[in-house]
Amino acid sequence: MSLRPAVPTTVATPLPVLGRDVLVPLVTGGEVGYAALDYAASAPALQRVWDDVAAYAPYYGSVHRGAGYLSQLSTDLFEQSRATVAEFLGCRTGDQVIFTRSTTDSLNLLAAAVPDGTSVFVFETEHHASLLPWRDAEVTYLSAPRTPGEAVATLERALDAREPRGTALVCVTGASNVTGELWPVRELAAAAHARGARIVLDAAQLAPHHPVDIAELDVDWVAFSGHKLYAPFGSGVLAGRSDWLLAAEPYLAGGGASRRVARREDGGVDVDWHTTAARHEAGSPNVIGAYAIASACRALAAAGFDQLVEREQALVARVRAGLAEVPEVKVLSLFGDDAPRVGVISFVVEGWNSSHFAAALSAEYGIGVRDGLFCAHPLVRTLLGGAPQEPGECGAPDTALGERSLNAIRVSFGAGTPDEHVERFVGAVRELVADGAKWRYRTEDGRCVPDRDQA
Ligand code: PMP
Repeated sequence: MSLRPAVPTTVATPLPVLGRDVLVPLVTGGEVGYAALDYAASAPALQRVWDDVAAYAPYYGSVHRGAGYLSQLSTDLFEQSRATVAEFLGCRTGDQVIFTRSTTDSLNLLAAAVPDGTSVFVFETEHHASLLPWRDAEVTYLSAPRTPGEAVATLERALDAREPRGTALVCVTGASNVTGELWPVRELAAAAHARGARIVLDAAQLAPHHPVDIAELDVDWVAFSGHKLYAPFGSGVLAGRSDWLLAAEPYLAGGGASRRVARREDGGVDVDWHTTAARHEAGSPNVIGAYAIASACRALAAAGFDQLVEREQALVARVRAGLAEVPEVKVLSLFGDDAPRVGVISFVVEGWNSSHFAAALSAEYGIGVRDGLFCAHPLVRTLLGGAPQEPGECGAPDTALGERSLNAIRVSFGAGTPDEHVERFVGAVRELVADGAKWRYRTEDGRCVPDRDQA
């Protein structure tokens, strides 16, 4: 099956997703259609993915083990899903596609497979999933660059300075989960390769918004999560070069990863591990999760990624223009206003505790965003200009911007977002800043919630 449609469709309307008709109650009375604007955390399932999974579900069977018809069908589907993902990512001959649970799982798998003595280089601005898995390696945390060019120069300097020049791995995010800004992946990959280092791309936020071509970007590995790619069925992907992966001990030891196990005369066991992706997929594979990811890959490709990008960029421009009209709003950015970005935008509002603002967007407008430090604490602290303090009572306004902005608010959207959600969001921000919240809020377990006592 080819992922590239002969005649691309024009995507002027959002792709159908689940939850588009869900009504949620407002504290002020009545109900409103839920505006899911937290795609960066988890995107709603594409209707297409849900339909494909539902159509397959009666045929579900165990993978790689059963002699029965449904088991064989499921095994075929699982392997076809692998091939679909390989095509979606533009994998090279010999690349492995390993199904994991998530991006976090994929990067931990790779971390467990890096050869002993490998030096790892990570920007401090990364999501914790990219920042933290390298526990057994010598890690160099690179300071936050303020331009894409500075990112490349910083990496070049760090790689040039390494002593001795042994194996090295760079881990970089494709699009920031905080600012949505695109990182210069191709340039970073070239810089790494020119210095004998390898590079893994954390595409958790890139893949849902932008085509990712592993060969064209010339990265060694790519990791992403199904639940951010409209396929929330508990699976993720690590794809890329096979040598380290197939030389490493299996990520999990158990059935599925082993080809042959035999007792030794001395009482131990001998194990032959698989020398394919199965080596790192011990246990019963999540065939529905893998199939769902493949279905999402097909659906995005069939819609025409260029058209999806174009439509999303129109939404990005609308949100940014709307926020720019409110002087109290400060959008967070590492690379500056003109930096290209996906549909992920974080901001703070002068005079507002971010948790309070996010709670009011939800309770009074039916808009779901996220507030916090977004599992990228060092980056958000850099962007906010200092260490965040413990959240105060809701409604206790922050004072000067940057000084007491406790955390940020993030709005994120994608292929399933209707224009109305974005318009409602922009209007709600304007109204909340101008008129304040209509309801009273209080802190419960560190979060702002509407005060139920207000009647
Ligand atoms: N990397 C980035 C850039 C992310 O945004 C996220 C999720 N917020 C992750 C990694 C981790 O993804 P998951 O929670 O699906 O493992």
